[in-house]
Amino acid sequence: MRLIIAVWAAKLAALAGKIMGKKSSSTPGEIALKICPDLIQRLKHNITGKVFVTCGTNGKTTTNNLICTALEKSGHKVICNRVGANMLSGVANVFALECNIFGKFKADYGCFEIDEAFAVKVFDKITPDVMIITNLFRDQLDRYGEIETTASLINSAIDKCKTLTLVLNGDDPICASFGKNRDNVHYFGISEQVMEQTEGAKEGRFCAVCKNELSYNYHHYSQLGDYYCTFCGNKRPEIDFEAKDVDLTGGLKFTVNNSEKISLNYKGFYNIYNILAVYAALKSADVLKSSFSGLLSDYKPQIGRMEEFYFGKPVILNLAKNPAGFNQAIMTVCEDKRKKDIIFAVNDFPSDGQDISWLWDVDFEKAVSNNSGLLITSGKRKYDLTLRFKYSDINVYMYTDNMREAIKKCIESDSEVVYVLVNYTVLFPTQNILLDMKKEIKGDGKNE
Ligand SMILES: [Zn+2]
Repeated sequence: MRLIIAVWAAKLAALAGKIMGKKSSSTPGEIALKICPDLIQRLKHNITGKVFVTCGTNGKTTTNNLICTALEKSGHKVICNRVGANMLSGVANVFALECNIFGKFKADYGCFEIDEAFAVKVFDKITPDVMIITNLFRDQLDRYGEIETTASLINSAIDKCKTLTLVLNGDDPICASFGKNRDNVHYFGISEQVMEQTEGAKEGRFCAVCKNELSYNYHHYSQLGDYYCTFCGNKRPEIDFEAKDVDLTGGLKFTVNNSEKISLNYKGFYNIYNILAVYAALKSADVLKSSFSGLLSDYKPQIGRMEEFYFGKPVILNLAKNPAGFNQAIMTVCEDKRKKDIIFAVNDFPSDGQDISWLWDVDFEKAVSNNSGLLITSGKRKYDLTLRFKYSDINVYMYTDNMREAIKKCIESDSEVVYVLVNYTVLFPTQNILLDMKKEIKGDGKNE
């Protein structure tokens, strides 16, 4: 009875939220948990097949949603926290709202993105069959604390599940360390040098065993690559699902284990990791029956992820929430061989994280090449950004609070493409500016 009341209460709360025009991705779940604290345990048997859980600093929403899309496209009924509410209440929310009025639902699979810090709590309620960890990067320090704290939380969560299959990014020394001395581990990675090798900032590239600085045979971005430790012998593990023949011209193309060809109309080198994670998870769970590329062909990324506007030339807006996010975005800029202008904008409001010492961990200098056009800095931390470039002997064309003027300058320049790379609180105002500019030139702009 308590369960049914909880389900009804959640449904009413969701309905009320809808009427008020609010997106309720966790409030109904919170209410349901208050009424019935063991709601998740009591409903989990409604999922008849495997439960997939995705953790990691970057790419977990994309990876989780892609797993769900692939399973749905294969004809399965999937329960998934697609909107990214990734704490206990977010999971309870999906369970409660999925129920019929009798407190029951039917699903073949469960796919959940879980915040690293909440994995222990969630695994107390529901034991996953497959856990995917995309990567572990330094996030905003003041909100998440040190990376070691996060790693130990993940380790405790893994220890709760005796029969768990782990799918880990083998190119990430921190992520790969979760597989040490454990069974049922599958690693994925990109097994060839893709980008030109340059010396970047070294922060964060340390051995997970002895904490000494790592060496690399080749390096992708942040701490990802073919690493080895000359001090203790720790090295990149043998990779079970490895990408090779990477081709970034016009979408993403690569082969997995020299056999399966994957070709998708996605942007961004880092998406290879997300796609590999999905492939490895589905293969490890033995649920992949048809052509993999076909399953993901019409997936739509979230807004502000390499979102393209057009003003006689493409203006591409991308959100980066942390140093690794900026490094990923910078890799994508490097892949683009057209002449390009780049605007970097960073704020330091509480939701951005107020400690911006990470600016020194980002390989900003990689974004600037011989064929670069204008380089502009903006946001509350424009001076720090400008100083960061100065230390790499790179001149900033201008720094400004006026994003509209910055974008206009780039549109008027002789570049072929403009990249606008921003952090969280800069994203929506910048998006509004671009939408307004589109309205102003009416008919001339097309947004895809
Ligand atoms: Zn070592």
